[in-house]
Amino acid sequence: MEKVHERFLRYISYETTSDENSETVPSTKSQVDFSEILEAECHGIELSDVTRKNGYVYAKLEKNADGFPSIGFISHMDTSPDASGRNINPDIIKSYNGGDIKFQNGKILSPSDFPELRDYIGQDIITTDGTTLLGADDKAGIAEIMTAVSFLKTHNDIEHGDIHICFTPDEEIGKGADNFDIDEFGADFAYTIDGGKIGELEYENFNAARAKIIIHGRNVHPGYAKGTMVNASLIASELVSLLPPDETPARTEKYEGFFHICSIKGDVEECSLNLIIRDFDSANLSKRKSLLENIIKDLNAKYNNAIEYNIYDEYQNMYEILRDKMYIVDLAEKSMIDCNVVPIKQPIRGGTDGARLSFMGLPCPNIFAGGHNFHGVYEYIPVQSMEKAVDVIIKICQNSKGMKINS
Ligand SMILES: [Zn+2]
Repeated sequence: MEKVHERFLRYISYETTSDENSETVPSTKSQVDFSEILEAECHGIELSDVTRKNGYVYAKLEKNADGFPSIGFISHMDTSPDASGRNINPDIIKSYNGGDIKFQNGKILSPSDFPELRDYIGQDIITTDGTTLLGADDKAGIAEIMTAVSFLKTHNDIEHGDIHICFTPDEEIGKGADNFDIDEFGADFAYTIDGGKIGELEYENFNAARAKIIIHGRNVHPGYAKGTMVNASLIASELVSLLPPDETPARTEKYEGFFHICSIKGDVEECSLNLIIRDFDSANLSKRKSLLENIIKDLNAKYNNAIEYNIYDEYQNMYEILRDKMYIVDLAEKSMIDCNVVPIKQPIRGGTDGARLSFMGLPCPNIFAGGHNFHGVYEYIPVQSMEKAVDVIIKICQNSKGMKINS
């Protein structure tokens, strides 16, 4: 049987960069081509219900025993537009010695910059050649899921329920859940295999809102402006000064929320602000939204309704869904421990496709795929982390025997 890292190396030879400026679904033709290859492979290992729709590939490994829930595993096929994903020329550092890894172009992957490299001394590390990303995010996940279901297919003595798999396009441009067909998929719950280092288990993410604000000013000659000029840029700076100064991304961590000014653009006549608001607690997110709205209302009273604004929600914390279904998280945690993997439970200070899927009706925490330094030329993945991810997927299927699901 093809080993997980061999499968991974084969997958990363296909370019699948997504494109946020594209209007097509999926966003790039290369993803369609790769989805055809994955579809053929699902047929090749004799999975059932193999379907390809809008760039999504769905398939099922039929149960060979009763008394199991049906579990899904999901990975995304696209790679980030932040770095080239074409002609990836990977290198395998066998039995890594803890030193600098020098690329031909002079760049160095060094444990002094990336101390976590030292966790993998003695292991085999797959790196780039310093010119592209690697694509472990998230082709490692695809290779791990495919390896696990192929293993189960050829080891019929291991009992399991229906296992549903799906490979999605356009996750990196925030559209991975857009056309996900939950009915087609058919699982009771699922895991995205899209986390970073070995052990990661994520089931909490930010609640997110965004504010788009336009301030209308009135420009007159500055020498003769007394009582007539309204400077939109000054109102913008007054607005920003009224936000809590310690609640910014640079001053918060862990479970702390923030306001983040993404951009301020403008002059006297007009100034626009783009602002995001994040909090793990939905009541706190509402408080933050109200605080901003009250600041704007006060300024509107002071400046004759100069400010137009729209504050809207972007995504929600999947813990709102998972708090009543923690058996899904517990199953993954126990399965990691059974595989000698130390679970690392931490909140995601961002969003995830699993969060959107959870609110669409498919509870979906995130599990490690094993890679580090995603979206750039320093991306790497230890072979042994990929092997452990395969073990964990198989163990989740086994350990789910007799599990009760509340809907
Ligand atoms: Zn990813």
